[in-house]
Amino acid sequence: MDMEHAPRHTLWDMTWTELDAAAHDIDLVLVPVGSTVQHGPNSVFSSDAVRANEFALKIAERLYPRVLVAPVMPFGIAHHHMSFPGTISLSPETFTNVLFEVVESLAEHGFDRFLFVNAHPGNEAALDLLLGRLRNKLDLSPAWVSISALASDDAQAGGRGEASEHAGQNEISQLLYLAPWTVRTGALATNELLEQEYPFTSPEGPIHVAYTFDELTTNGVIGDARAASAELGERIVTTALDRVCTFVKVFFDGDAF
Ligand SMILES: [Zn+2]
Repeated sequence: MDMEHAPRHTLWDMTWTELDAAAHDIDLVLVPVGSTVQHGPNSVFSSDAVRANEFALKIAERLYPRVLVAPVMPFGIAHHHMSFPGTISLSPETFTNVLFEVVESLAEHGFDRFLFVNAHPGNEAALDLLLGRLRNKLDLSPAWVSISALASDDAQAGGRGEASEHAGQNEISQLLYLAPWTVRTGALATNELLEQEYPFTSPEGPIHVAYTFDELTTNGVIGDARAASAELGERIVTTALDRVCTFVKVFFDGDAF
């Protein structure tokens, strides 16, 4: 085993015989969910997928040996970023079908508790629908969580909701702590916001309009990454980890459902 990190179960790093031996200890499968999406000049296309994966690994280390991390989903719903070159988007149908079949496969091997760890706001509406479908069709009671939203009310963590910024101080700070190789520290920029066409609309509402990112910001950023730091990222991630682990310890039992 690689000794640079605490012990953890990750499917891609195990053989089937190792999984078979560990399966009786595993109560929960984490499915990290990301996106391949522009993050302005501030960080690379893998930012959401890597952030979701690294956060899931931290949960698995804290709760070893009871958690298994499935392979990260690298694609999300990102039509609203398509005017920036390089972005890849799935349709909501494809996205939910892939994740449904990932869970269906693992359920066939006897796993019955699933938590999607999401780092891309564009996926959230589809994840809600996916939970209902998994419950109705497979009789599972999965959950999904947004990393930033877990700490969004924590002033000490400087938290903000996932949809309130994109490649801003919160997200870039998390990346500086979890995955510094994704951040272009010499190029960190603030947003170049555009006036929105309709009153009372924003990515967070209260009135929802299907804006595309190029209608909101010229450089692809919402928020200000210039004040990002690994220290802030560590505070956000630690708050989020404490809270998700509190949830998971109850969720293991399934009695709440
Ligand atoms: Zn992101």
